[in-house]
Amino acid sequence: MDFNEIWYRIKKGAKRFWKKTKRLVKRYVRLLVRHTKAKDYSILIYTIAAVLVLILLFVLIGKAFHGKKKKAEPTTTEVVIATPTEATEDPVVTQQRMLAEQAEQIYNSSAGLTVLVNPTHPIESGYTFEHKTLNAGYDIDNRMYDDLISLSDAINAAGFEYNILGAYRDRETQENLLNSQIESFVNEEGLSEEEAKSKALLNIDEPGYSEHETGLAIDIASGDVTTRTDFDDTAPATQWLIANSYKYGFILRYPQDKTGVTGVNYKPWHFRYVGKEAATFLHDNNLSLEEFYSMIGR
Ligand SMILES: [Zn+2]
Repeated sequence: MDFNEIWYRIKKGAKRFWKKTKRLVKRYVRLLVRHTKAKDYSILIYTIAAVLVLILLFVLIGKAFHGKKKKAEPTTTEVVIATPTEATEDPVVTQQRMLAEQAEQIYNSSAGLTVLVNPTHPIESGYTFEHKTLNAGYDIDNRMYDDLISLSDAINAAGFEYNILGAYRDRETQENLLNSQIESFVNEEGLSEEEAKSKALLNIDEPGYSEHETGLAIDIASGDVTTRTDFDDTAPATQWLIANSYKYGFILRYPQDKTGVTGVNYKPWHFRYVGKEAATFLHDNNLSLEEFYSMIGR
């Protein structure tokens, strides 16, 4: 028996089955009509009941099949349950996590502009940068230059004069600065060497621990101030700098309300360049650089 013969037999059988079915349906319809005309509705009721039962059966089978299908691919539902952050996480925690992610991203793209140097984080040995000398004779990291010019223009446009008191200091200059301060406390105030040193360290960093060695720090006062001892933080130029310098990539590095976290006295003249993105982030979230580092776990 070859394939053609089998196919022929199947077709023939199907035709015969279809004819028989048609004949049966016709006979059934005729019976239904005849009984209904004779006002005997029993067959009509059975028919409707049978159709309804069939529909119900199809719906149930369909549902059972669909349910099984859903069970067969549990991955999607499991993923939804396994992600606790969206549905179950406390909104405050979510916000903190998102801030930390943003901080991490800013840190990674800052190309070292957010480097941390403070009394507990010495400057990396061999730290170098491309120097740029300002008209006033101070050196800075070249990457700060354009933004410093913009900041300078903006201060003047706001109607204020400013004076740069310091920028880059090499190790030796930092040592000399500290030593002369100690000496003056010993000679003029009669303090012991030790007392004089701890007092001097309140305002001048230990060599190797000063941001000024990175070329990213700048001390700015209003135009009439030439020394840090004359400094007045209520001067309009200083108030303007504290409020607006972040727009140009600078932060007030040691604010009055952050001495507990920075471990450094309030220094209203000391601004630190971190780049616009980081400065805006720190400003908007009221963070010191130390808090930024603890946020990213470094
Ligand atoms: Zn400074």
